[in-house]
Amino acid sequence: MGLNKTIWANPSDFIRAEQPDNPVLFFSPAILQATARRFLDGFPGLVTYAVKSNPDEIVIANLDAAGIRGYDVASLYEIDLIARVAPGAAMHYNNPVRSRSEIAEAVEKGVRSFSVDSLSELEKLYELVPQGAEISVRFKLPVKGAAYDFGAKFGATAPLATELLARANGMGFVPSLTFHPGTQCTDPMAWDAYIRTAAKIAADAGVTLSRLNVGGGFPAHRLNAVAPELDAIFALVDRVTGEAFGDARPALVCEPGRGLVAESFSLATRVRAVRDADHVFLNDGVYGGLAELPLIGIIDRVELRDGEGRRKSGLPVPRIVFGPTCDSVDRLPGELPLPGDIAEGDYVIFHGMGAYSTATVTRFNGFGVLDMVTALSLNSAQ
Ligand SMILES: *Cc1c(COP(=O)(O)O)cnc(C)c1O
Repeated sequence: MGLNKTIWANPSDFIRAEQPDNPVLFFSPAILQATARRFLDGFPGLVTYAVKSNPDEIVIANLDAAGIRGYDVASLYEIDLIARVAPGAAMHYNNPVRSRSEIAEAVEKGVRSFSVDSLSELEKLYELVPQGAEISVRFKLPVKGAAYDFGAKFGATAPLATELLARANGMGFVPSLTFHPGTQCTDPMAWDAYIRTAAKIAADAGVTLSRLNVGGGFPAHRLNAVAPELDAIFALVDRVTGEAFGDARPALVCEPGRGLVAESFSLATRVRAVRDADHVFLNDGVYGGLAELPLIGIIDRVELRDGEGRRKSGLPVPRIVFGPTCDSVDRLPGELPLPGDIAEGDYVIFHGMGAYSTATVTRFNGFGVLDMVTALSLNSAQ
């Protein structure tokens, strides 16, 4: 993905000047830094960034500039990236399954915090990680409310987590707990049961927790009708931690991906065809920047602009929208309401596209070249 060096006022100015035929991701460093400050000011603990949601160097550099001092990393590639772009920041290696060589190299590169969700992986860490490092036991609950369930792959049940925590403590590690309530959690209550269960696990294990990592899962603004309630989540996490742990309150950590980065990118796609005045074909789809939509649902924060960058605002008509490849799964879920006067050559701009969009783009069928453009603002005037 090439980064265009010019800084544009907004997407509409760029469209008017360039009429791009490839999809374009517009990035606003100002919005990213403002969102980071919202987390830093509002969250009652350490804010770390889940690198996988958008590992672009320019994203990391702006988070570093905004004051983010910790990163959730899952691979040696991500460890090297953070060491290079945000030197000195804390790295939490929170992928609970790693090879021995990955663990050894991470230790060498300064990682001192690891998650774990199984006895076999704890044994590996015991062999390779110096005592005094932090081990965060990852546990899971069957919680509803997330766009999709992270517990399907990772996380120990509460009884196993209790055993893991007691053992990690006995091995001389700094004992912590971590969970991930599931991505795009619009209901603050998703955190409630997890935090109360964490307190019970610690009590049952007879361990005073050093830290509790409440995961990612903070929602982005995907649907016009559902505004994310970050402040309500921060307040709930703070209150419930106090209630559940009392005097043994651990320090809190969060590791948002989507909630930090989504709002700072908008994706401009071009209409390749409106077939027989019905189906809309875009130049990007589920093999490109829109990969996540079939997994967690449509983004309806879209606007339509013509080739001159002017907003089109005909009455919305629900449309079936296809991406550019010849694969029939290359289709957005359900129907997307778009102004009825949509025409070939127009641009459909999706807002809130910073997470899980740049990182998963493929070149399937010869498509997937996305350009990246820096903009001061992502909302254009008429
Ligand atoms: C992916 C991931 C995150 C970030 O999740 P979001 O829903 O994007 O906030 C945080 N922690 C871990 C361990 C993850 O795997």
